[in-house]
Amino acid sequence: MSHDLHLETQIACAGVSSDTAHNSVSPPLYLSANYYWNDPCEKPQYDYARSGNPNRAQLEEALASLEGAAKGVITASGMAAVDLVFNLVNPGELVLAPHDCYGGTHRLLTARAKRGHFDVAWVDQSDPVALKAAFARAPKLVLIETPSNPLLRITDIRAVVALARACGAVTVADNTFLSPALQRPLELGCDIVVHSTTKFINGHSDVVGGAVLAREAKLGEELAWWANCTGVTGAPFDSFMTLRGLRTLFPRIERQQATASEVVEALVKDPRVEKIFFPGLASHPGHEIARAQQKGFGSMFSVEFAAGIDVLELLRGLKIFTIAESLGGFESLVCVPAAMTHASMTPQARDIAGISDRLVRFSIGLEHGQDLARDLLQALDHASVAGDKLAYFPKQATSCV
Ligand SMILES: *Cc1c(COP(=O)(O)O)cnc(C)c1O
Repeated sequence: MSHDLHLETQIACAGVSSDTAHNSVSPPLYLSANYYWNDPCEKPQYDYARSGNPNRAQLEEALASLEGAAKGVITASGMAAVDLVFNLVNPGELVLAPHDCYGGTHRLLTARAKRGHFDVAWVDQSDPVALKAAFARAPKLVLIETPSNPLLRITDIRAVVALARACGAVTVADNTFLSPALQRPLELGCDIVVHSTTKFINGHSDVVGGAVLAREAKLGEELAWWANCTGVTGAPFDSFMTLRGLRTLFPRIERQQATASEVVEALVKDPRVEKIFFPGLASHPGHEIARAQQKGFGSMFSVEFAAGIDVLELLRGLKIFTIAESLGGFESLVCVPAAMTHASMTPQARDIAGISDRLVRFSIGLEHGQDLARDLLQALDHASVAGDKLAYFPKQATSCV
């Protein structure tokens, strides 16, 4: 695929009319586990589906061109993608991770550090002073997640890359929250991008998958070697579905982020709302950095409601929003991170990360903005309680290795 074409064109064309067997326009699905050799001395392009498969290769290529990567690896889940990059770190070496990263990543890093696979230092990457102090410990790998989940904190990618380069650390950006349609971390200097393709990339909430994209071919080959070695590569059907979802990424995300702004606008002046975490608001501390490194503000936001609002009643009263984990799909979702997505963190870790029990996270889908705003306002009407009902959630974290 020619790289001077616009990204929209590249994904619309990915794999189209590439079938030489029957001239199918849409790429065919290859479910075969193995591929025959014409001769024992002639290894075919694909021989065994863990190592390679045409559907995975098409998705890999499309995502690599979207992120500006030399080489990609498609994994069975976003967590498999995140874990894959930690094969680059040896025992005794340090991983620098955001203190408010995705809950599953927090659990994975904690569990691996506990087993001595490597050391972990947690840092608020939006705080330049804390960041500088953390880099004094000479990390081997730095994980960036911007905007962060669920507080939408913005990390200055270029600033972290500069600090990482000075000490020879590999930089990895989890770009799940924006997708390459809105942010391209490799262009900003990162070495690796990881995705949960479960979210915006597939966008239809019907596949769990992941991807790792490396700016340099050599690093990409090393990661592909580990993916084959450990067997974390994605299933052919999942890649077929994800490429199908990916084709509409740009129009989906454009619409979703416009609607998110509209819904935020409807909430921002409501006295029942205490705080809105949305990088599109000029009052958001990361607004200017987001403007500089993103092509848009995305379709995720979180809200802390005033003390008189029972957030559980609020969730129960919503008619269009679905109570569910995940994000980035066509359907609008709502969750309480402390009880759902971030329940595996200890209450102490959540406190440090600033995730209160009253925080509600929204993922805006493809419904009409006016309907979503009206749904939220009617649910708020029914969720006002006298007094302050706090402490909804069990104070024990759910088990972690
Ligand atoms: C969902 C998510 C993951 C994990 O991906 P899965 O596909 O659920 O394994 C990692 N990082 C972020 C930011 C996510 O939102």
